[in-house]
Amino acid sequence: MDALLEIHDLNKSFGDAPVLKGIDLALKKGEVICVIGSSGSGKSTLLRCLNFLEEKDSGTIRYNGEVIETTTHNVNQFRQKMGMVFQHFHLFPHMTVLGNIIEAPVHVLKRRKEDATAEALKLLERVGLREKADDYPFTLSGGQKQRVAIARALAMQPEVMLFDEPTSALDPELVGEVLAVMKDIASQGMTMVIVTHEMGFAREVADRTLYMHDGVILEEGPSKDFFANPKEPRTKAFLSKIL
Ligand code: ADP
Ligand code: MG
Repeated sequence: MDALLEIHDLNKSFGDAPVLKGIDLALKKGEVICVIGSSGSGKSTLLRCLNFLEEKDSGTIRYNGEVIETTTHNVNQFRQKMGMVFQHFHLFPHMTVLGNIIEAPVHVLKRRKEDATAEALKLLERVGLREKADDYPFTLSGGQKQRVAIARALAMQPEVMLFDEPTSALDPELVGEVLAVMKDIASQGMTMVIVTHEMGFAREVADRTLYMHDGVILEEGPSKDFFANPKEPRTKAFLSKIL
């Protein structure tokens, strides 16, 4: 199967502590994967290795079939293909919503400001925040901030979107608006890896769900099967705690 992003036998330690232990994962274009697992199991480290924010110790990462190495490639180029959305939004506080969204397209991709602005306004429309373009992040709710962060990532026209617990910092009543935007993006064919505790979302939206435990992918499967019929005792125990 021709994977867009493929990792093989990925290992990563911090000091003496192995955090990722032989991870294999292949992501097809347009596929949506949810990653679940306890705190400390290595989910964030996996995402950060995938987009080269963290350097792996060993293993291979292929993008469109090509093996990517920090020694031989300019990894910034690949990082740009992967939009990342974090738990705590990471918006630029001194810039307006519009300013946040056009910053990288203008300064990194060298897009004309007018073009980047027109595109940003379309993205804001898409996440339901067109009227907030000139406001500053501190005036927004957490759900609105996260929708801006998603629009900002999309403005770089990524081929993959990585989400690291995008709704974990939100008040419960704000979770739905962010998940709705993510579902919309998934339905448009975006390739996505989402670390989340939102099991309903994973079951409904993700093609596959992966359960990480202690640096390994302990169990994975098509989401409907995964949730209906988990096989590993540890997966069952985790799901019974969280569902
Ligand atoms: P998760 O996202 O599943 O909660 P992480 O990938 O953040 O897990 O962390 C996995 C393990 O790696 C944890 O034990 C964490 O303390 C450790 N870890 C993560 N990042 C670093 C780092 N930069 N330096 C040292 N240890 C780290
Ligand atoms: Mg994490």
